[in-house]
Amino acid sequence: MKKTSAYFDYAATTPLDPQVYQAMKPYFREIFSNANSVHLFGQQALLAIDQAREQCANFLGCKPQEIIFTSGATESNNLAILGLIKAGEHVITSSIEHLSVLEPCRHLENQGVEVTYVPVDKEGIIEIAALEKAIKPNTRLISVMYANNEIGTIQPIAEIGQIIASLNQERQKNNQALIYFHTDAVQAAAYCNMKVKELGVDLLAISGHKIYGPKGVGLLYKKTNVSISPIQFGGGQEFGLRPGTYNTAAIVGLGQAVRILNNQKDRTKNNKKITAFQDKIIREIKKNIPGSQINGDLQKRIPGNIHVSFNNIDNQNLLILLDQEGIVLSAGAACSAGAAKPSHVLKAIKLSDELASGSIRLTFGRFTTQKEINLLLEKLPKVIKQIG
Ligand code: PMP
Repeated sequence: MKKTSAYFDYAATTPLDPQVYQAMKPYFREIFSNANSVHLFGQQALLAIDQAREQCANFLGCKPQEIIFTSGATESNNLAILGLIKAGEHVITSSIEHLSVLEPCRHLENQGVEVTYVPVDKEGIIEIAALEKAIKPNTRLISVMYANNEIGTIQPIAEIGQIIASLNQERQKNNQALIYFHTDAVQAAAYCNMKVKELGVDLLAISGHKIYGPKGVGLLYKKTNVSISPIQFGGGQEFGLRPGTYNTAAIVGLGQAVRILNNQKDRTKNNKKITAFQDKIIREIKKNIPGSQINGDLQKRIPGNIHVSFNNIDNQNLLILLDQEGIVLSAGAACSAGAAKPSHVLKAIKLSDELASGSIRLTFGRFTTQKEINLLLEKLPKVIKQIG
C-alpha cells in the first residue's frame, strides 16, 4: 500500500499513541488470562483493568465504579439510551447527533416512545430555548453531543447541565422522576473539560480510537444513582451491565490514552499547536480559494476540525485527486461516507445541497506535522483550480 504523506482524517480515527501501544503489548501474549479467572494470572489481568478504571475515573473526576467498559462509543450510547428509557417516557436529543444516538432513539420511537429532535442554529449550536421548551413532565432523558463529528461545533454542555439541575431540584421536592443528562463526548474528549461534575452530566460516552487509543473499546460513565438495565445478557461483568470477557489489552490502552490526555501541561501544549494549525489552514484557504466557506461556529469548535465548502466542486472528485497526492481526508462522517446525499448535520445547519456536495472535513491532531500542513496548503488550491 502507498504510504500516506498527510493524514487529515483524525475525526474518523486517530493514530495509536506509541506509549499506548507499549502499555498494551504485554496483555496479548504474556498476561493473556481471563480477568475473571481467580488464579494468579487472571488476577494480574484484573489488576490491569482496575488500574485502567482508576485512570478513566481520574480523567472524568468520578468514582471508578462509575466507569463501564464497552466495545466503543456506539455501544456506550446504545446502553445509555436503551438501558434507561421505558415506555411512556420522553426523550430529547439534537438534530445533529451521531447515528449511534439517533438510531437508538428511532428504535425507541418505533416502540411508541416520544422523541423530540431539537434544532441547531446556522452555526451548528443547539437552540437552548427550543430545548427548554421541549421539556415535559415525562421527559426522562436529554442527550446532546459535546462536539460534533462533522463540523466540530462544541455544544454548551455545562449550561444545559445547569438547566437540568435546577429543574431536577423542583422535581425532587415534588417527588417526581428526575431528568437524566447524557452526552456523547467522543469528539470532545481530547480538547474539552471532561470533569463530569462540572458538566452536570449523568451519562457520558468516550471512544478509545478517537483519543489515540485502540479501536473496539470505549466507556460509559454512569453516575451512581442512575439506574439502567443491561441491553446484552450472558455474564456478570461491569456491575452486571455489560456482559462478556474483558478485552484486557484494549482496556489497558484506553486507560493509557486518558492518562496521557489528563496531563494538563501536555494537553495545553498540544491544543495550542493544533489551534495554530487550524488558524493557518483557515487563513490560507480563505486567501487562496475564492468562494470558500467554513461551516460551523468559528469560535465554539474543537481545534482539530475544519469543515469547508467550495463553490462548484464535486467533493468526491476532490477527495480522489487529493488521495493521489498522498493527502487523505473525508467529506463527512466515516460511517456515512460514500452516501451521495448531504448528511443530516449539513441539512440541520441549512447548507445548500450545492455547497454540501462541495464540502470536505479536514481533521488533524497530536501527531500532525508542519510538513503535512504544508503539503495540504500547496496541493489543495491547485487541485481545486484543476477541477473547478
Ligand atoms: N459518536 C461520535 C460523535 C463519533 O464520532 C463516533 C465515531 N464515529 C461514535 C460516536 C462511535 O464511536 P465508536 O467508533 O467507538 O463506536
